Amino acid sequence: MFCKLKDDSSAVLFNDKQCYVVLDKYPIERGHMLVISKEHYPDLLSAPDDVITGMSLMAVKLGRLLKERLGADGVQISTNVGDTAGQLIMHTHIHVIPRYVGGTRSFSKRGILSNEEQKMLKKLLTEK
Ligand SMILES: [Zn+2]
Repeated sequence: MFCKLKDDSSAVLFNDKQCYVVLDKYPIERGHMLVISKEHYPDLLSAPDDVITGMSLMAVKLGRLLKERLGADGVQISTNVGDTAGQLIMHTHIHVIPRYVGGTRSFSKRGILSNEEQKMLKKLLTEK
């Protein structure tokens, strides 16, 4: 599914040479984003260096954006490798999750992103 999602312009927030960004459909917190490789690699460990570099730089950029635009108190940047580690989609992606004082700390309680919320957050995060 992540192989095709890059062509969905309504879903994509940012595009780079190596990767693209969408809002997670099942966010842990409001503004939870995913950095996804454009080419298919099962996980970050199997991706080439330039892809790892591009994805990491994008994740940092998003972390800064979450602090600036959504007032995140903290940011979690993480990736899961293999189903033992909790990887659900076997196409490499990095989670960038805003954390708020008093917010959930859990990875198991996830919400659902509505279309309205998706549009609103996309505007908030991508507007110049
Ligand atoms: Zn794929």
